[in-house]
Amino acid sequence: MSNYSIETKCIQSGWTPTKGEPRILPIYQSTTFKYDTSEQMGDLFDLKASGYFYTRLQNPTNDFVAAKICDMEGGAAAMLTSSGQAANFYSVFNIANAGDHIIISSALYGGTFNLLTITIKEMGIETTVVDPEISLEDLRKEFKENTKCVLAESISNPSLVVLDFEKFATAAHEAGVPLIVDNTFPTPVNCRPFEYGVDIVTHSTTKYMDGHAVSVGGCIVDSGNFDWTKYPDKFPGLCYPDESYHGTTYTKEFGKAAYIVKATTTLMRDLGSIQSPQNAFYVNLGLETLHLRMQRHCENALAVAKWLKTQDKVAWVNYPGLEGDAYYERAKKYMPNGTCGVLTFGIKGGREASIKFMDALKLVAIVTHVADTRSCVLHPASHTHRQMTDEQLLEAGVKPDLIRFSVGIENVNDIIADLEQAFKEI
Ligand SMILES: *Cc1c(COP(=O)(O)O)cnc(C)c1O
Repeated sequence: MSNYSIETKCIQSGWTPTKGEPRILPIYQSTTFKYDTSEQMGDLFDLKASGYFYTRLQNPTNDFVAAKICDMEGGAAAMLTSSGQAANFYSVFNIANAGDHIIISSALYGGTFNLLTITIKEMGIETTVVDPEISLEDLRKEFKENTKCVLAESISNPSLVVLDFEKFATAAHEAGVPLIVDNTFPTPVNCRPFEYGVDIVTHSTTKYMDGHAVSVGGCIVDSGNFDWTKYPDKFPGLCYPDESYHGTTYTKEFGKAAYIVKATTTLMRDLGSIQSPQNAFYVNLGLETLHLRMQRHCENALAVAKWLKTQDKVAWVNYPGLEGDAYYERAKKYMPNGTCGVLTFGIKGGREASIKFMDALKLVAIVTHVADTRSCVLHPASHTHRQMTDEQLLEAGVKPDLIRFSVGIENVNDIIADLEQAFKEI
């Protein structure tokens, strides 16, 4: 499917049935898979033959959906995980272990920030947090002998910083490490990070990909472009025999799929964060309309952003698709067809006015979610990011008065009318 445009890939990639097979991706609701001889089964465990044996490692439904997302991103190999958190954790832990160091952008989703600064420290991995607007020169200085990767978000949640892909890719590659980018917000419909030098992409499929808020899930896609074998001592897990897997050397035996095969055969085997095939089926349904929904999300968000700008009670509005936004030019360069449906704004009168406003909304709900069909709001300082200090909030680009607004695909006039009546209540 690689020559088709993204809209066609959304619908047709992944499951491609032939003669007499179901038109629609089947849900392989089975923990295990049958073989005729013990030798056949043995070959699977030796990685001599490929095939399914136990759904904790791999399941056909999941693999067809991963293959679709892989094709949409233009990657070489992909895997689904149980959540976006698991995807980001595996993406790092697959190449960084105790005694290693990683670099992350400060503009990250709160859950990822916590994972990669606090939880990962308990595993012996040290993290340097950098401002995404750091100069290339200063970024270069943050790399150490034991640095194994750099991780950032293409559009950060909720600070809506559009990543300077080339700067981060340049610094990472000069230091001989891959750049991992969480591409959840723009999705491959609006941004394909591999085209800008990114090596590995992660997703919370929970958001726009599923798109209807029915299933939690994640995905990791490898471009296959990073040459691990140039730095065998830095990435021994990929370049030297794995004693926990019959002495397999992943780069030798699996080429461009090495990173994903290792993550499947070791991390998925041992940590087991598999996505349920039922959820993968829902993600696949969501993907079939992703291109249509993203377009409408972006149109509605831009209209709402423009309207908010004209309101007396609004202190500020951030939306990378809005002319004059700090990231407008960069968004035009990296995501010319649109960004995402999420915008942020602040209300004059601070926290108290914000809470009054949110409580007065009727159509737009207060939920801990973003990026589904229904419009919703969240106040990170009192919800998702409440474990962070004001200083950490500001460092992550989250103002204490920030309201995150995930603009849905309802009629935009109805969304604006709801905001209008809520403003009258404050
Ligand atoms: C939600 C989110 C995550 C975490 O994903 P879950 O599926 O909730 O585990 C990671 N990154 C970004 C950008 C997110 O928005």
